Amino acid sequence: MSLALARKYRPKRFADVAVQSHVATTLKNAIANDRVAHAYLLCGPRGTGKTTLARVLAMALNCENKRPDHEPCGTCVSCTRIWAGSASLDVVEIDAASNRGVDDARDLRERAMYAPSGEDRYKVYIIDEAHMLTREAWNALLKILEEPPPRVVFVFATTEPQKIAQAAAPVLSRVQRFDLKRIGPADVRERLAAVLKEEKVGVEPDALGMLARAADGSMRDALSLADQVLSLGSGDITAQRVRDALGLVHEDEYVALLDIIAEHRAGDIFASVGRLADFGIDFGLLLSGLADTLRAQLAIVLGGAVPDLSEHLREALDARKARFAAGDLLRMLTMLVEIEPHFRRSAQQQLLFETLLVRFALLDRTIGLEEILRGLDGAGSSGGGGGSPARREVPAVATPRLASPPVMSDSKRVSEPQAAPRPAAKVAEPRKAPQPTVADQPPAKRKKQALDLNRLAEHWDDVVEHVRASGRGMVASALNEATPSAVTAGGLVTIGVTSDALADALQSGSEIILAALRGIFDGVERVAIKAMTDGKAAARPRLTAENVIADRVATLRKRDPLLNAAIDALDLRLIE
Ligand SMILES: [Zn+2]
Repeated sequence: MSLALARKYRPKRFADVAVQSHVATTLKNAIANDRVAHAYLLCGPRGTGKTTLARVLAMALNCENKRPDHEPCGTCVSCTRIWAGSASLDVVEIDAASNRGVDDARDLRERAMYAPSGEDRYKVYIIDEAHMLTREAWNALLKILEEPPPRVVFVFATTEPQKIAQAAAPVLSRVQRFDLKRIGPADVRERLAAVLKEEKVGVEPDALGMLARAADGSMRDALSLADQVLSLGSGDITAQRVRDALGLVHEDEYVALLDIIAEHRAGDIFASVGRLADFGIDFGLLLSGLADTLRAQLAIVLGGAVPDLSEHLREALDARKARFAAGDLLRMLTMLVEIEPHFRRSAQQQLLFETLLVRFALLDRTIGLEEILRGLDGAGSSGGGGGSPARREVPAVATPRLASPPVMSDSKRVSEPQAAPRPAAKVAEPRKAPQPTVADQPPAKRKKQALDLNRLAEHWDDVVEHVRASGRGMVASALNEATPSAVTAGGLVTIGVTSDALADALQSGSEIILAALRGIFDGVERVAIKAMTDGKAAARPRLTAENVIADRVATLRKRDPLLNAAIDALDLRLIE
């Protein structure tokens, strides 16, 4: 292979310009319709095909074998010279980065005054890195563009159009601007595969992906990198060969670093990084490789797709998605991006890299603290349970939540203690008790009772169970110590207790008590808790069902002497 791939495969026709077909087609149509502009501005990142497009345009305008499709033939003397960037009478390439003074602009202006060398030819000036031109140079150019000579075309190429807007805004209104697309890894990969196939060189898919990533959106770089790999050794391009040639770190090394971070093995970092340093690794590459790996892990944790990831790495990151919370990965990426500008200039890259990893590995402690704070904030009565109450408590309650992907489980658990504050174990308790209570019946079947004090006293145990079933064991226990002391026609239920502590306990659960009462009785409006600390409540006989019956019998006896006699005679116990 004598010719470098990047050169050999540089497009010779509009149709071959990868990705930028929107620009190529417009230029070709301009030629077809004889509406070629006097000046074009091609903007785009490096390696996206700006110079290539400019040359193909110059070739098409000056081709000796005009074709019906208006593509350059690519083989005539004119095409060949222009394509190769060799000296040509009619096509002048200027690198503004080195020729930016006013003298050159004057020279340009003078030269532009000369007509093209032939009747059917165009004079084409290709000005690369046009943003580097001085204001004076632009002013000189502006004069030409205001009164353009016939068959003279300027093509400005730039990576930084905003600088031209600052230095030479009037010029922008006299040029036709095209923005070239960034070439994605998939496009680079596709083109690279086609070129290598043409060259009859076998290539592993992973090796293609690595080359495409390393090219970072530049087709030219991708082909140059492939050249670099091919120049070292022979045979197929394997992933290992790409790594060796480009000094890339094996992806397993990054996975190993992820494990160290996940397992908080901060102490292992220095040995691992030292080993990589011994290989003579470029720490800049190492940092960007780590960034790529963290980014891919984040995408996988969030359930997103990561194109252009080797199957091997995808599997490794997939297996680790439960080890990282999205928030932690985000934090790590932010920390990494923050040190990056400093990193590039630093003479202590290894140290910076190591300390960054140590910060990652210790990150968990920060989260732990937040978790505890959040737990204290939201968990209320269950807050005193040690390390991370929220984390221990929720899983049992959260059964219905399992339907959602458990991907971000860590941060989810941390953020949701309020959503499920009940201690789960207590929910289950009453269900074990076989006795059916009113609360156990489905609402439709349940027949509510009319509210009065006697019935309330009879069903007091139901009320207690009802409250217990809703998970408020403490309130239920307090309620068990209490007695209903009054019921008004307006639906106010007064509950008497013998101590302030019990009153407080009931007060804290008054809503659940109200709900329990309403579940059993019609017409309950409010609940009042009354502490009878003077002993009155304690002195009152406990209102049990038995007492109530006895009470009722006594009343009946008074009202109906006949019944009274009958009861005495038969020694009947009146049973409701
Ligand atoms: Zn030609």
